[in-house]
Amino acid sequence: MTLALGCIADDYTGASDLANMLTRSGLRTVQTIGVPDDALALPNVDAVVVSLKSRSIEASQAVARSRAADKWLRARGASHVLFKICSTFDSTDAGNIGPVMDALRDDSGDPIVLVTPAFPGTGRTVYQGNLFVGSVPLNESPLKDHPLNPMHDSNLVRVLGRQSRDKVGLVDLATVVRGPDAIRKRIADLAGEGHHSAIVDAVFDHELEAIGQAALDYDLSVGASGMGLGLARGLIASGKVKDASASTIDSKPVGGPVACLAGSCSQATLTQIAEAEKTMAVLRLDPEQIVKGGSEVQRALAWAKDHLGKSSILIASSSTPDQVSALQSRYGRDAAGHAIEQAMAEISEGLLSQGVRRLIIAGGETSGAVVDRLVIPAFLVGPEIATGVPVLRTIGSKRGDMIMALKSGNFGGPDFFNDAVRLVA
Ligand code: ADP
Repeated sequence: MTLALGCIADDYTGASDLANMLTRSGLRTVQTIGVPDDALALPNVDAVVVSLKSRSIEASQAVARSRAADKWLRARGASHVLFKICSTFDSTDAGNIGPVMDALRDDSGDPIVLVTPAFPGTGRTVYQGNLFVGSVPLNESPLKDHPLNPMHDSNLVRVLGRQSRDKVGLVDLATVVRGPDAIRKRIADLAGEGHHSAIVDAVFDHELEAIGQAALDYDLSVGASGMGLGLARGLIASGKVKDASASTIDSKPVGGPVACLAGSCSQATLTQIAEAEKTMAVLRLDPEQIVKGGSEVQRALAWAKDHLGKSSILIASSSTPDQVSALQSRYGRDAAGHAIEQAMAEISEGLLSQGVRRLIIAGGETSGAVVDRLVIPAFLVGPEIATGVPVLRTIGSKRGDMIMALKSGNFGGPDFFNDAVRLVA
């Protein structure tokens, strides 16, 4: 198998977002958790997104992990690799975007790399190299107060210039609107003048396709999910990849009962749990007992044994904002959160032992804890249950194939759990 596109994402949620975007754009896509073992057998897909956690770690470590991911992807035939960054260009003058970009470009042998966080459809536009978040420049957006990567400069030519070893140029909007050939010529001119990277303007989504087509002349690009969209469209337009949007996830059923777990306390999830109570068996855990080290996990698994197979089940730790703050003030936010995440992970493991092969999980951190505990190396990304929440089929799991859905707290409509149970059938 030869991959048409490899991606290295600097955080997990960004990776999921990109993998979902590529699937929606017609590419059969796998998302891996970290750099997989060489032994991982990939199904026949067009794109792989390797999820790293490298956005805010030390630059030299981010470089080493990204290079390892790049090597893995290139060994599977990826002729083009996208280094996926946040659409708000989250980074500091120490990196990690510039150092990782420089290292991957050195490895690729490319003279220059196209860089854009633009994704107009989600309110990220770039004009004259300045990034706008909705209607305001980056340095006036809430990102100016980000705890890890405060962004005080909206001019990305300058921001990247402080991070990269080399000169950074600009492909301006007047060039971009003239199409892929005009972009190609400008890039070649910039490379000739000694620039090794270029920020690319974009204010409408359709410009991403021209950018993607030009970027595919090179082995490496840097961007957010918008660049992913451009590359996917470019690959399909050039005939390098056949549009797979009509196909669904490998439909071989995995069997076993369905279980839902909710650790999110978001308003959307609280409403979804209340709605699920009308049709499913729902167990509400006692969060205080979990934090105090009581036997809630055992109670949940005994309850599940009685209910599994009779109807869909939902086990929830979620409580209202007042109850959450009360618990946090008694035990500390991190301690409470961690204890509950670990309990949910333990419950998921117990459910698998009871034959569950289809799991729906609400909560970003909760999902992360479960995926880590079940040691899932990768997912094949399927159709969406709700915007941003695709059906996932595990790949390479020692426990056999599972179907999962991992939902960020705020995602999905009131009937999310019922919709999900239907779609993971
Ligand atoms: P979301 O996607 O909504 O942010 P997460 O799973 O990322 O959901 O975060 C929810 C956090 O709240 C987790 O750390 C979880 O363990 C914790 N949590 C879950 N239930 C409770 C509760 N009843 N009280 C306090 N914290 C809770």
